Amino acid sequence: MNEQPKTPDPEVIYTGKRRVSCDGGGGALGHPIVWYSLDDGEAECGYCDRKFIYRPEGEDAANSA
Ligand SMILES: [Zn+2]
Repeated sequence: MNEQPKTPDPEVIYTGKRRVSCDGGGGALGHPIVWYSLDDGEAECGYCDRKFIYRPEGEDAANSA
């Protein structure tokens, strides 16, 4: 039998900005605020495993469907 460690799914956040900040959402799950630059198109938070993906058209195209 395989026992898989139960890990929460990392949150994926799309942003149109080249720089993002993450504080883990605050509260008990929070962490000191850190900034990431999405020069490579994406970045992963080293604290809470959130993934940030740079998508410049994301916000404007939200209502186009
Ligand atoms: Zn984080």
